Formats: sequence, C-alpha cells, structure tokens
Amino acid sequence: PSGGFLRGGTSLAEIKRAAVIGAGVMGAAIAGHLANAGIRTTLLDIVPKELTDKEKAKGLTLEEKSVRNRLSRMGKERLFKEKPAPLFHKKMAEKIEVGNLEDDLHCLSEVDWVIEAVVENLNIKQDLFTRIEQVWKPGIIVSSNTSGISIREMVEGRSEAFRSHFLGTHFFNPPRYMKLLEIIPTKDTDRQIVSKMKAFAEETLGKGVVDAKDTPNFIANRIGVYGLAITFQKMLEENLGPDEVDTVTGRAMGRPKSATFRTLDLVGLDTFVHVSDNVRENVQDPEEKKAFEVPELLQEMVEKGWIGAKSGQGFFKKV
Ligand code: NAD
Repeated sequence: PSGGFLRGGTSLAEIKRAAVIGAGVMGAAIAGHLANAGIRTTLLDIVPKELTDKEKAKGLTLEEKSVRNRLSRMGKERLFKEKPAPLFHKKMAEKIEVGNLEDDLHCLSEVDWVIEAVVENLNIKQDLFTRIEQVWKPGIIVSSNTSGISIREMVEGRSEAFRSHFLGTHFFNPPRYMKLLEIIPTKDTDRQIVSKMKAFAEETLGKGVVDAKDTPNFIANRIGVYGLAITFQKMLEENLGPDEVDTVTGRAMGRPKSATFRTLDLVGLDTFVHVSDNVRENVQDPEEKKAFEVPELLQEMVEKGWIGAKSGQGFFKKV
C-alpha cells in the first residue's frame, strides 16, 4: 500500500487493477484506455437476453451480442486499429479480460478501482451499486462515468464506508483522445481518494483533471447540451443541414475531425436524450428548463432507432 491511510485505518493500494462495468460506447473504450496505460483491466456487462428486431434482421446471434464479441467488434473498429495515441500498447489492449455481471461480480473484490459505465439511468445505477457493495472491500475505489446524474443520489442508502470511497470520474468520448476528465466528489468522499484519483488520472492516464461540483450535468455537459440545443434550433430555423453546421463547427473552429453532429453520432443520440432529460428535470429555473428541451426531430430519430454510430445510422450513415 502506498496511498496512505483513510479514515478508520483502511489502506489505499496503488491502482494496478481495474474493472469497468458496461461494455458500451464508453465502457469498452475506457477499458481500452486503461489497458493501454498498463492497468490490468476486466470488462463486465449484463448477459444479453434477447435480440432486437433490427439485430435479428441483421442475422446477429445472442452469442455475438455478448460482451466478448462486442469488445472484439468495437476493438476491431476503434480500440486496436486507431492510429496510436500517446498511451497505446496494442498488446495490453488485447489482454482485457471480459465477464458478465451474473457470474463474475466477485472479481470486483480483487481490483483497486471499479468504474461504472452502464446506461444513463439512476435506478439501474443504484441497483448496480447495491450489488457492487456486496462484494466490495474497504480500499477499493468505486466511480461512475455518468454524464450528469447526481453522484450523491446514486449511492444513497449505501454504507458510509462505501460512500467514502465513491466519486464521479467523467471521461469524454473518445476517452483515449479526449484529455478532459471531470472529477466529482460528494461531501462523503474521502479527500485522500480524491487526491489519489487526480494524481493517477494525470500521471498514468494522461488526463487534464477538472474539479466539478455534483450539480446536474456537472460543467462540460451543462454547457455542451445547451450549446447543442441552440445549434439545433438555429439549424431548423435557418434551414441548414448537419453537413453545413459541421463544416462551420469542425475544422473552421480548430476541431480536427468531429464537429457538432458527427460528435452527436459518436456520443449516441439515445444517451444525449438521457443527458438532456436529466439536466432539465434537475434545474429549477423554468427558462433554463426550456433551454434543455430535446428537439422533436431528435426524439423521432431515437424512436426510429437512428441513435448514431452504434446503430449504423444517426445524422450520418455509417459506411
Ligand atoms: P451505451 O448505450 O453504449 O452502453 C450502455 C451499456 O449499459 C450497455 O453495454 C448495456 O448492456 C449496459 N446495460 C444496460 N442495462 C443494464 C443494466 N440493467 N445493468 C447493467 N448494465 C446495463 O452507453 P454509453 O454511451 O457507453 O454510456 C455509458 C455511461 O457513460 C452513461 O452513464 C453515459 O451517460 C456516460 N457517458 C457517455 C458518453 C458518450 O459519449 N456516449 C460520454 C461520457 C459519459
């Protein structure tokens, strides 16, 4: 143990092993980033129970939807093929261990850091932390990658010891390239854990850390979602298409590749709706609530399953 001692004499080990829960857009990529940085990483997800009509039409099987195969599909596309970032060790990324939440939850007691990256839904996250606490041991840091759900509420009802080890660690998409990491402690989070996490994120993960308060959508998404809502409104008012908006907000603004709508496709339109809903439900000012309303067009796209790169169709079609 090298991290000093927490309240109650618990030791804090160096972060050498991590587990990521949720093998979606963010979870798989966070696992990839950790592995690339030399951390032994396990990736867990739920066991898929059924296929959607779209998946059936594509001829996908349940086995192909499993976490191992999803990781390998995502890996082929994004994790292992991308041009090397500063932290890239292909061999490590390929060594990510995978498992499922039904059979392998016990492995969490062996790691130093558990990162939750499941769907943006408070109840699902609360249930998961209740389960995690059953195998958790003092000294294991637990964090959520939520885009903006209240960190404190997620662990309401959990023990004081568990809450003292819990915080938000909000990565940005794609986690290997986006330098920003918001760190969101609650009033219960042990200060030593916060300092340790910051040092680890900066030194080992190559991140630029920003301290954020546990307010709806923290800092970046509070501003980002608002900006997108305005862009949307203007785009519709002025009859612009996503390509035109992206031309202006992409290279012209100094972004190398992904501009407004390409970023939305990458994020996932369903996730964007969850994130907007969360901030709208949690801000008090009626004017601010109005500013975070999800445009009808975006809702319609989600209903059609046009949720971005992960479904093959968003504002742009994936080729
Ligand atoms: P995603 O839709 O790609 O993946 C969600 C994962 O959650 C899936 O693998 C799914 O199997 C799993 N899941 C669904 N129901 C579950 C349950 N009941 N129990 C356990 N797992 C379950 O979502 P994502 O974009 O990877 O987002 C994950 C988290 O990261 C969310 O909290 C999101 O707000 C946050 N986030 C997303 C982005 C982004 O750009 N997409 C960026 C930063 C943070």
